[in-house]
Order: sequence, then C-alpha cells, then structure tokens
Amino acid sequence: MGKVYLVGAGCGDKKLITLKGKEAIEKADVIVYDYLANPELLDFNKKNAELIYVGKVANNHTMKQEDISELLVEKARQAQTVVRLKGGDVYVFGRGGEEGEVLHQAGIEFEVVPGISSSIGGIAYAGIPITHRGIARSFHVITGHHKDGVANIPYDLYAKLSGTLVFLMGMGNLDNICNGLMDNGMDKSMPVAIVEKASSVNQRTTVGNLSNIAKIAKEVGAKAPGLIVVGKVVEKRESLSFFETKPLFGKKVIVTRARVQESALVESIKDLGGEAITMPVIKINPIIDSGLDVEINEIERYSYLILTSYNSVKIFFESLSKMGLDSRKLAGLKIVAVGNKTDEALKAHGISADIVPEKFVSESIYETLKDKLTKDDRVLLPISDNARDFLSDKLGEICDVKRVGIYKTIKANLDYSNEIQMIEDGQIDYLTFTSSSTVENFVDVIGKENLGLLDGIKIISIGPITSKKIIEFGLKIYAEAKEHNIDGIIKELVL
Ligand code: SAH
Repeated sequence: MGKVYLVGAGCGDKKLITLKGKEAIEKADVIVYDYLANPELLDFNKKNAELIYVGKVANNHTMKQEDISELLVEKARQAQTVVRLKGGDVYVFGRGGEEGEVLHQAGIEFEVVPGISSSIGGIAYAGIPITHRGIARSFHVITGHHKDGVANIPYDLYAKLSGTLVFLMGMGNLDNICNGLMDNGMDKSMPVAIVEKASSVNQRTTVGNLSNIAKIAKEVGAKAPGLIVVGKVVEKRESLSFFETKPLFGKKVIVTRARVQESALVESIKDLGGEAITMPVIKINPIIDSGLDVEINEIERYSYLILTSYNSVKIFFESLSKMGLDSRKLAGLKIVAVGNKTDEALKAHGISADIVPEKFVSESIYETLKDKLTKDDRVLLPISDNARDFLSDKLGEICDVKRVGIYKTIKANLDYSNEIQMIEDGQIDYLTFTSSSTVENFVDVIGKENLGLLDGIKIISIGPITSKKIIEFGLKIYAEAKEHNIDGIIKELVL
C-alpha cells in the first residue's frame, strides 16, 4: 500500500514551500496538483512522477472533488507515493479535510504537510501584517464565495469584529462584501487592500476603503486570485512593504545563457524581485575526441594548467574521473582559475588555485600571467573551441602552450515561441548577453529583419567583446558591465 501526502505548496513564490513539502515532492511517484500551486515546484521531483492537473480555470472544474479523492485512493492502492499539492495551506479552504476523510475510510496512510496560507503569507508580501499590537488583536479568514447568494452571510457578525478580516475567493463578490460590512455599521473609511497573485512577480496591491475599493478595483481590472484585507493593518504597508519595493520588482529580464549556466543570474534576478525569462540560445557541447586524455596522461610534462571557465573545470574533471583519476594527478602543477566561479568550481574538487585573475577578458589574463611565466614553462590550456586565439598566441610567445578545445558553444534549438511572443507584446524590460555567441544565436532566433522588436528593451552586455557583437548587429547597448561577470550584470540591472 502506498501513502498520500497532502502538501501545502505555499502561497506563490516556489521557495515558500516547507522542507517537508519539498521532500515529499522529491520522492513522489504521482503528483496531483491544483492551479494555485506554483508549477515550478514540480521540478523538485526526482522520479519522473506522473503529473496530474486537477485545478480549475475560472468556474470550470476540471475534476470533481469526489473524483480527486478517488484518484488519490486508487494511486495509493497501486503502492505509489502520492503527493496532493495544493496552493497555500491544505486546510484553509483547500478541501484537504475531505480528502483526508476519504483516505481514512479507505484505510490509506496519509500525512498532512501544512503550508503558508495566502491569507497570512500572501498579505505579508503586500506589507500587511495580519495582526499588529494595538491595532488588530485577532484575525478572521472568511470565504468570500457566496454559493447560495448573499442572504445567508452573517455580515452583522463580521461587521462587529475588531480584528483583521481576510476574504478569500471573494473577488467576484467585492461589492457585496463591502456593502454587507457597511450596511451593518462598519466605518466607511475602514482601509481595504486587494492583493492579486501574492508573492509572485505579478503581485499587485490596490488600496482604498470600504466605500471606494470596489470602484477602484474595477478601474484597475483587479481579478482572481486575490485577497481582500479589511482593517487598519492595511496602513502598515507604508512601512512594512518589502517585496514590491525590490529594485527589479515587476521587471522581466531575458537570460540567454546556456541552461547549465543560467542559474546564478536567474536566482539573482528573482532575489531582486524580478522575473527571469530563460531563453537559452546556446548550449555547451563537450568535444569527445578532444585529445585531452592524451595530455592528462602526460600531465607531468606541464608546469601550468589554465582553466578559464566553469565549463572547462567541469569537463576537465569529468575526463579525469572517466580515466579513473582525481585531483592528485594535478599535484605538480600551478593552477590558474579565471574568475570567481571557476575558482569555486575548483575548490569543490579540493583545489585552491595559485592564481585567480579577476578579469575574464583574455587581454587582462595575459597581463596577469606574462611576468609569472618563463620560457621553460609548459602550459596546458583546455578551453572552449570558440575562444579567441589571443591568449594561446600571446602566452605562446613566452613559452610552450598546448591549447585543447574541450567544448564547443553551439546554437540551442529550442522552442522559443512563448518568449518571442512576450517580446512582441512589449512585455520585456531587459535583455542580457553574457557572450558574443549568445548575441549571434539570439539574433538568429529572432531573425535579423525583426530586430526592431527590441527597440524598447534595455540591452545589457557582460563586456567589450560582447558589446562589439551587439553593435555589429546595429543594436543599442543600455549598459555594459564594469566587472565582466554575472555580478557585474546584476549591478547594471539594479542601477
Ligand atoms: N489553501 C489556500 C486557499 C485556497 S482558496 C491558501 O491557504 O492560501 C483560493 C483562494 O485563495 C483564492 O480565490 C484567493 O482568494 C486566495 N489565494 C490563494 N493564493 C493566492 C495568491 N497567491 N494571491 C492571491 N490570492 C490567493
């Protein structure tokens, strides 16, 4: 017999799930998920789980509650580990209790993993504390869904409560809710906030009071999913907003790097409140018959090993490991790691580089090394096959240099239609390029004749070589990173 985990996904941002929830997703064979659960959470799964969407779009239930519960029973009976993933918390208007009861009756083991409910966490992201000393001594989470009309809703009771009121599923009933409270004596000037798509990049908060919020919400086109917060705590937003005030909040930034390399930039953009649109136009292809193994076998002949990128480190050590060797093979060498990421990647193999040139441009690497190398040195340079000859040529004037092309950057052929649509719709704020090959392949994807689409987009380049390429295509650079690395790009983004 399998087991079912009823997991609260948190209220939007994927990182707002609990550790326990993440672990359950990792080991699930089947994941049954809702429309409010962030779909990025499914990427945590490690078992190629069967993914079943049972959410609803507007009033269109894709699956009845009884059928969902039955599905959980059936999958668990097949000895599967099942995760039932729900937005926010499982028991806050999540029908988790009904599912638990059915599982109990069927004799199936289940566990509840609570989640951060939008009613508390979502409004916190809008800068609204659900309680506050001296202002709200209680809070009340209320359904705003009036299945049988407004008549049976006890607004007389709600209007008397002095704590914070949070209505869920109430966007379609905003008028009724405000009128219901005012008709029963609540002050017209009581602050009200609407928080749409809380804790996501598309979060929007609209503020007013009981008498005008319905009108304002209509004007701005507020729609579900949204939270309606009634109470003086709304005013705390002025000082407690932390999310909407982030430097990239609401901004969309295209990342064109290869999938394996994009994470540092993507994570930084998200941390700054922006949305990273990944559009990997290149990919890194290791060259199988590069001849690196021959050089590794004779590594004692070399005095220097220069690794100029994270990829070089990764592919070099993969080759080493395939040959049944490890870091000890490099004991006699001086090692140069270009840039922090490369240095970090080496440290993961227990190696502290002897020299770490800060700058990535070949010219600066040459400047750092030219006085250190003597004519008796022998340098092994496993590098991208696309790299310029400058470094190997100039170092070659000093001593013997063996350049081995161990990987190639090639065009990634993916489906970019969604991203291109966003560009066409004018939704993109920034476009980042981290190498000249990302520029070339991006232009290839968009088509030279369509570059006019990029007119309103701010283009950020990692450094001079990349900038040169951008200009060659007649595009305008908004900013060039002063440090030629990801941190440098981030600095330009937040400027
Ligand atoms: N179990 C969920 C609530 C499910 S009811 C929880 O604990 O959050 C669905 C309602 O929750 C929506 O109609 C909306 O009012 C609210 N909701 C859930 N996630 C939201 C979000 N990210 N932003 C705004 N409202 C949200």
